[in-house]
Amino acid sequence: MSDAKLFVLSGPSGVGKGTIVSEILKEDPDLRLSVSATTRSPRKGETHGVSYYFMTDGEFRAEIEKGGFLEYADVHGHFYGTPKAPVLAELARGRDVLLEIDVQGAMQVKKSYPDGIFIFILPPSLAELRKRIENRGTESREDIELRLGKAVAEMSYLRHYEYFVVNEDLNQAVEDVRAVMRSEHSRIRDAEKILKKIEEES
Ligand code: 5GP
Repeated sequence: MSDAKLFVLSGPSGVGKGTIVSEILKEDPDLRLSVSATTRSPRKGETHGVSYYFMTDGEFRAEIEKGGFLEYADVHGHFYGTPKAPVLAELARGRDVLLEIDVQGAMQVKKSYPDGIFIFILPPSLAELRKRIENRGTESREDIELRLGKAVAEMSYLRHYEYFVVNEDLNQAVEDVRAVMRSEHSRIRDAEKILKKIEEES
């Protein structure tokens, strides 16, 4: 039995999940980030195999048919999915895995992998969220409105998560997510090995 954990991080577009995730990865080299597949086009600076596996609609559908995704969803009009094999392989090797996925995908993972730990990143306010998406400057006006409308709908899933972190201050938010990760490794239900050792020693 491995003590590796599957952490699932969601939150509305523009809330800063990507930045939080890259900070966490810098500080924890043993943590594995799952690289998702998507049918959306690459943004400037995104690399195939690093940011995402960019796929055609046909390729993505073929992967669905093969049962290759742990979860997948239509987000903002494009497919996004978590390749199953690498996640299961890393967990089997005893490494924690982090998924940065939308609420629909997270709900699927909750069903198929109930031991996952589900964390929701919230913006300090909707006004602040709008500002952040606008400042990013990568979306069209139409896309911004679409993403903001979805943000409200996504936040209604909050109650299905186990933890929330408000991203007002980046360093604090990173520390809060790391605190959740650390405490999840101190759950009594995972203490079997330690208890056994104490029994053997006593
Ligand atoms: P973006 O296009 O801005 O990179 O991501 C848009 C949304 O898709 C984000 O909310 C992100 O969390 C979500 N997303 C990214 N990868 C996956 C995935 O593999 N599965 C699901 N369900 N959502 C994903």
